[in-house]
Amino acid sequence: MSYLSDLECLQCRRSFDPTTLQTFCPDCSAPLMPRYDLARARGALDRDEVACRPRGMWRWRELMPVLDANNIVTLGEGDTPLLRLANLGARLGLSNLFVKDESVNPTGTFKARGLSAAVSKAKELGVTKVIIPTAGNAGGAMAAYAARGGMQASVFMPRDTPWPNMYECRVAGAEVTLVEGVISDAGRLAGEKARAEGWFSVSTFKEPYRVEGKKTMGYELAQDFGWTLPDVILYPTGGGTGLVGMWKAFAELDALGWLETSARPRMVAVQAAGCAPVVDAFHTGAESCTFWEGARTAASGLRVPKSFADRIILSDLRASGGTAVAVTDEDIAAAQAELARAEGLFAAPEGAATLAGLHKLFAEGWVNPDERVVLFNTGTGLKYIPQRSAA
Ligand SMILES: *Cc1c(COP(=O)(O)O)cnc(C)c1O
Ligand SMILES: [Zn+2]
Repeated sequence: MSYLSDLECLQCRRSFDPTTLQTFCPDCSAPLMPRYDLARARGALDRDEVACRPRGMWRWRELMPVLDANNIVTLGEGDTPLLRLANLGARLGLSNLFVKDESVNPTGTFKARGLSAAVSKAKELGVTKVIIPTAGNAGGAMAAYAARGGMQASVFMPRDTPWPNMYECRVAGAEVTLVEGVISDAGRLAGEKARAEGWFSVSTFKEPYRVEGKKTMGYELAQDFGWTLPDVILYPTGGGTGLVGMWKAFAELDALGWLETSARPRMVAVQAAGCAPVVDAFHTGAESCTFWEGARTAASGLRVPKSFADRIILSDLRASGGTAVAVTDEDIAAAQAELARAEGLFAAPEGAATLAGLHKLFAEGWVNPDERVVLFNTGTGLKYIPQRSAA
């Protein structure tokens, strides 16, 4: 059912066997990317048939890593709405402004896609205990999919992670460890536990399959735009899984011959001013990011001081002709209110950050009025409400 062929380290090009449990390239300490036999798939798969299948990201199963459908652990993730933002567009002077609304996914964020893919593949390879360091939402998603897949779950998250994230993990039966510091501190401690007790880590890009779940956002966009692609995509970037995944998806669709055009979107990484390693590296011309000390932002999913895939993020941004932009938490709060009042969308702060980023880029003339622009609302604002809200 899957055309998965091997895993490849983008740095040294070494190939790895996908029929055994893999993590990352031991030589380069870099992510492994799943590869498919797309030449064979091209002859056998029909994009219009795939488009008609029952909804959900596993519609794309031949281009996903799970070999036996019985191993798929799903809660109905994917096929989220692409909504036109007519009110905001009119206000801004953009005639083709859209949001891909990932807040309707199981567990309320797009992390569902990645964790459905990673947990399914781990199950197929015999894993029974999964562990994750998280800024919040990935932990909630892992706990849910682990529960559904009959696995034990252990989640390491910063102590000041939004409380619904701890709550959802515990409800799903996961063991939650609260950590002083940020996701990188959680990562160190989770790694120690994993090695000592034999847990399999699904930390982003340290296993090869979360990116495969998130790439399906790119497939859906292509389908929604009639097998063309938008001109600009603004993506709130933490670990960069979705950005790297979508860029990969566009290349795969091209290899399948499914795209009507060779034009690619300009990819924009939006980060919080209090943690903007990708923005800094992008504008200084660096090939990798410097660890961001003292990361601070209310957009907890963006509080990632250094992504494990930093080199790939930067090279994809540059290949796309894109850019990177930082926005303050005040900008994010204003954009969140604007989205809710103008369009009825209660976006997560990370999602709202993309609107704040768009305001900046539009003011600079980087975006043209008739371009097709897609904002990614990666989660629901409901997961960020203070425990006793004054509002
Ligand atoms: C994790 C997360 C992000 C960042 O996603 P990456 O693919 O890791 O860059 C953005 N928004 C929300 C709501 C998240 O949970
Ligand atoms: Zn390598």
